[in-house]
Amino acid sequence: MIDLDLSDEQRLLVQTVRDYLATSIAPDVRRCDSAGTPLPGAFSKLSALGVTGLPFPARYGGAGLDYVTLGLLCEELEFCDTSLRTMMSVHIGLAGCGIYQWGSEAQKQRFLTPLASGRKLAAFGLTEPDAGSDVGALRSTARRTADGYILSGNKLWISCATQADTFLVFAKTSPQAGKRGISAFVVEREHAGDALHTFALHDKYGVRAGDTGGLSFTDLEVPAENRVGEEGEGFIIAMTCLENGRFTVAAGATGLIRACLESASRYARERKTFGVEIGRHQLIQEMIANMAAGYDASRLLYLRAAWMKNKGLRNTRETALAKWFACDAANRAADDALEVHGAYGFSDEYPVARFLRNSRGSVIYEGSREIQKVMHGEYALGYRRDKPVRCELPAWKEMA
Ligand SMILES: Cc1cc2nc3c(=O)[nH]c(=O)nc-3n(C[C@H](O)[C@H](O)[C@H](O)COP(=O)(O)OP(=O)(O)OC[C@H]3O[C@@H](n4cnc5c(N)ncnc54)[C@H](O)[C@@H]3O)c2cc1C
Repeated sequence: MIDLDLSDEQRLLVQTVRDYLATSIAPDVRRCDSAGTPLPGAFSKLSALGVTGLPFPARYGGAGLDYVTLGLLCEELEFCDTSLRTMMSVHIGLAGCGIYQWGSEAQKQRFLTPLASGRKLAAFGLTEPDAGSDVGALRSTARRTADGYILSGNKLWISCATQADTFLVFAKTSPQAGKRGISAFVVEREHAGDALHTFALHDKYGVRAGDTGGLSFTDLEVPAENRVGEEGEGFIIAMTCLENGRFTVAAGATGLIRACLESASRYARERKTFGVEIGRHQLIQEMIANMAAGYDASRLLYLRAAWMKNKGLRNTRETALAKWFACDAANRAADDALEVHGAYGFSDEYPVARFLRNSRGSVIYEGSREIQKVMHGEYALGYRRDKPVRCELPAWKEMA
């Protein structure tokens, strides 16, 4: 049975994270978002907070906490700013969980431990200039050599590209084999030298206080022991990484809806038109009510996914549904929050324009709205069934 009560530890974590972000990071958000520069020291601050390895076992430097707690963390991070949640989505959800799920014991010790303990930041390199939703179309190659691989290619729209130390990347070991020819590799910046070039994208529409950029590999030598999983397993590895990433995105979007709801409700009780607070006008109430409903529904969906993850149940559909629903609801909530603020919402005097810009990215990444609709249509029609995966994430209690 799903228990929606939070434990005392979970409540304490939420309050601790909320208070910490409010004093140590929130004061920088408006300036950095406006300037389009990453929040200063964001990763080291999250590391000091002790959340960079939240779901991973203590033996890999993690905190050993469950998926409900991970969702609550992501909600608080995105309540502060989307860039923070994005950082933890790629660090924990995409790269960290990918290495945890598919890596050998030696790879977990070597690559996951510094990530979980907050000494190194991870990024996830799947998307390319000509391959986003269509992962099988990626062009990066990994050519086998006597003792490893040589990677060549380009990745674009990579969160934390210029700041990360460790990258979980995908390249074709059999270029003719489509998605079955993809393999996964860990690339370490400290060993890559000039063969790895990373760059930032500027003047983005949203997540302006975060680092989004690209990677290029020029004959980058990667030792064989950095390949994660078997040759040709890269596509399924990427899909399972996305499943964990999507969970963090869903929970984060829920936090963004709460930020919209709080801002819009506060403003609706301050601003007066026609002699009354605008909150007294029913059309304003409709927008606020939609935000409240969107928040509750999104939270329930991500908590259900968390509960399934804790139990080790397959949750591909449920997690994707939480992501699709919460991201669309956050986008609508942010649009309505701006509307409630009238012209002031159009300035950076209030945070709602930032909320709207930030809400847009998650509708696109980790499975766009259209890809999600296709997926859920296929599930409902019985055209899509989840096949067993060689390495399933264990139930949370078995992870410890
Ligand atoms: C802020 C941000 C951060 C990101 N961070 C990362 C990251 O860290 N790592 C990473 O690897 N990637 C990252 N991405 C990339 C993201 O995952 C891709 O943008 C996404 O997968 C979509 O790919 P695309 O942009 O190439 O669009 P395309 O795949 O070219 O799609 C273009 C349009 O066509 C639609 N479409 C595509 N196929 C279909 C279909 N079969 N049916 C109906 N419609 C379809 C799409 O929904 C979209 O509307 C990030 C993107 C953003 C915006």
